[in-house]
Amino acid sequence: MSKININKSWKYDESLESTSHIKLKDKYDLFIGGEFVKPLSKKYFNTLNPATNQSIAEIADANDKDIDKAVKSARKAFNSWSKLDPKERGKYIFRIARMIQERAKEFAVIESIDGGKPIRESRDIDIPLAANHFFYHAGWADKLEYAFPNKKPTPLGVAGQIIPWNFPLLMAAWKIAPAIACGNTVVLKPAESTSLTALKLAELIQDSGLPKGVVNIVTGAGKTGAAIVNHPDINKIAFTGSTEVGKLIERSLAGIEKKTTLELGGKGANIIFEDAAIDQAVEGIVNAIFFNQGHVCCAGSRLFIQESVADIVIEKLKDRISTLIVGDPLDKNTDIGAINSVEQLKTIEKYIEIGKKEGGEIYQSKCSLPKKGNWCPPTLFLNVSQSHTIVQEEIFGPVLAIQTFRTIDEVIEKANNTPFGLSAGVWTEKGSKIFRLTKELNAGVVWANTYNKFDPSSPFGGFKESGMGREGGLHGLKSYLKFE
Ligand code: ADP
Repeated sequence: MSKININKSWKYDESLESTSHIKLKDKYDLFIGGEFVKPLSKKYFNTLNPATNQSIAEIADANDKDIDKAVKSARKAFNSWSKLDPKERGKYIFRIARMIQERAKEFAVIESIDGGKPIRESRDIDIPLAANHFFYHAGWADKLEYAFPNKKPTPLGVAGQIIPWNFPLLMAAWKIAPAIACGNTVVLKPAESTSLTALKLAELIQDSGLPKGVVNIVTGAGKTGAAIVNHPDINKIAFTGSTEVGKLIERSLAGIEKKTTLELGGKGANIIFEDAAIDQAVEGIVNAIFFNQGHVCCAGSRLFIQESVADIVIEKLKDRISTLIVGDPLDKNTDIGAINSVEQLKTIEKYIEIGKKEGGEIYQSKCSLPKKGNWCPPTLFLNVSQSHTIVQEEIFGPVLAIQTFRTIDEVIEKANNTPFGLSAGVWTEKGSKIFRLTKELNAGVVWANTYNKFDPSSPFGGFKESGMGREGGLHGLKSYLKFE
């Protein structure tokens, strides 16, 4: 076995992204009917910077009456927006995409301050992908009849959209762009801990001249989300978040005529065969579980290594994670930023304790952690099996459960043995193995010799407790349309 030689004393100088170009208000109201309006609830809450736990701004806490106002505004706008020449709809959406690109740096910095993700990720992934979603759907606006030949697609009406805190602007783009491209209008609620980039998007939408009421952005926590779900004049609910809340939503919508898409949790299997390019696979493992602090529904949080290469992969993985820098999200050197909230940190720590109690062998990088804020070092668990809690349940943090396997049948069986079915990764040089696994793994997306690659043209979604429906691509468009 070749000896790995990594210079552990390597030190990087701080390289902080500037914040002088960002404009944030102290207080944010609700974006309804194209204007920022005070909440009827008269209530506000604080949004915190997870790297310091200090307040950044006050955010309006919408109640049932506020939601009703937003839905009425969306309904009114639907009458004209749905009848607008689709080519004109496309132009507005195209303009929003261009404006996101122009303001990309401001969005990236705010995303990192509010959500804790490393600036390299918000700058290179979240914001460009958000713009791409608007570009892609702008293109479809006047081509829906080509997308679905011999059918007459028409919009559904008002879409209620509820998004999580892990990819705030990207999820907003992911939801708004297809909905309005198809001629619907929307009421969108960002997650309570990360509302800022959605509210900046509201400012951008105001500047873009999009007809008033086509996009309404309301803020608040679970109760506000429930008010959207239960509003009688909403035609479609698009939800991304936890399986627990997804189940609640399904229960409250049972028997009611509202289209629903649910993108929920996951416990992705990342499978390394002995014929894989090992160094690339190790990079893939790191990306699969430590990207965005592991706050990723499709994270590769279960690693399966073929027994003959397990020792070398684990050795290389331990070395690699000891070089990962955990710290200030605004530092361009940072690999792993802040855990999104105190509550989420507690959840992760609870799972780490359970992992240890149930006999897992823990390995954590000895990296230094900042004194203030919410942090978790990259964590590996060895000697775990299918029955361990940390192998079965979604942790949503930088914690990887590692198992080995001997045969392809064994790994398929193990990989499919969870309540989830969202994502998987396969590392091998054999195309035949890739094809067999893409067919037999019960996962909405299977990446081959890569991981966490996203594209607006590619449908995304899960099986089993990972949800239902697809977002992105033609499948995603379809769920915002009805066919006469
Ligand atoms: P997480 O566990 O990742 O925080 P949640 O499912 O709790 O995910 O949150 C995802 C989104 O769902 C957030 O915008 C949150 O405010 C919203 N939400 C939470 N509870 C409810 C509910 N009962 N009904 C509708 N939306 C909800």
